[in-house]
Amino acid sequence: MKKILKVGLIASAAAMLLASPLSAKKIRWKLAETWPSTLTPLASPPAEVARLVKEMSDGQFIIKVEGKEKHKAPLGILDMVKGGQYQMGHSGSYYWKGKDINTVWFTTVPFGMTPSEQYAWFYYGNGKKYMKEVYDKFGVYSYPGGNTGNQMGGWFRKEIKSVDDLKGLKMRIPGLAGEVMAKLGVNVVNIPAGELYTSLDRGTIDALEWVGPGMDIKMGFHKVAKYYYTGWHEPASEMQFLVNKKAFDKLPKKYQVMLETAMKAASMDMYIENFAESVDAWAKMKKDYPDIQVKTFPKPVMLALKKAADEVYAGYSAKNPKFKEIYQDYTAYMKKARAWSMMMQYNYLKLSKELGITK
Ligand code: CA
Repeated sequence: MKKILKVGLIASAAAMLLASPLSAKKIRWKLAETWPSTLTPLASPPAEVARLVKEMSDGQFIIKVEGKEKHKAPLGILDMVKGGQYQMGHSGSYYWKGKDINTVWFTTVPFGMTPSEQYAWFYYGNGKKYMKEVYDKFGVYSYPGGNTGNQMGGWFRKEIKSVDDLKGLKMRIPGLAGEVMAKLGVNVVNIPAGELYTSLDRGTIDALEWVGPGMDIKMGFHKVAKYYYTGWHEPASEMQFLVNKKAFDKLPKKYQVMLETAMKAASMDMYIENFAESVDAWAKMKKDYPDIQVKTFPKPVMLALKKAADEVYAGYSAKNPKFKEIYQDYTAYMKKARAWSMMMQYNYLKLSKELGITK
């Protein structure tokens, strides 16, 4: 065994000498991300992909990552990758819902699947097939780019006791969830990330949602709003890698494999990183700000949100056949997967509470 390994090492060393870096032509790509390059864990997957492909290719495949501070077009990523200014992008699929509503399926939807259910649908159900169909017309390939897990429902300055408390409430909440909230009379506003803390502190807005403890703690929302609601609207937000089709198709096969492998590994890593950061952040928040009250919307509010969400889905299904098709496929898969999630995850968590392992 040892001998075989030795021979193998000598052989690969010889191969490396033959494929001298000097003789090969380096491939240099650029990647634009929606986030500032310091905003981890969202900014982690692109940096990790660049590191991995560089290592795997012995420095022959270089990807330069540019954050929003450089290109200044956080919501122009799809256009820049489509146009070829950047070979790659890292963003969130639901940001393109104005171009095609069906892009929302590949991030997350209100009352939708959990991360494990959604990954199963994506890789072993029809998710991947639909993502390809939706992105084909843009001349790009789209891949999962890291998951935040179930997001928190947001920070509220006042407690929500009834549906009436939502009427006229000013809240930052994007995507389909914003449309759902608007149906219940919420005044949905869009505010740049950099102004969110001040807006909540000064009462320009009454509530906002961001991600979860790990990312929220960096924004400081817990210092200015004490009601922290559990989530319903983004149960499995998946980020997205975009790759210009022509650029990808021109890559030597081995670099295509390297890139796809690196994107998958880096995405999984972000899911773990964000989970770990939330574990620590929540422990710290609870200790430093014991006034924070974790709340779940009362049942009548949840039922009203669910009804409004169903109306949003029905509205898009009526005017967009592809939306209807994906919605039906997604919902059928979720129903099947949820039965297993309940047996596997829910019962175990319930048991740990019953036995006093957790509170
Ligand atoms: Ca969010």
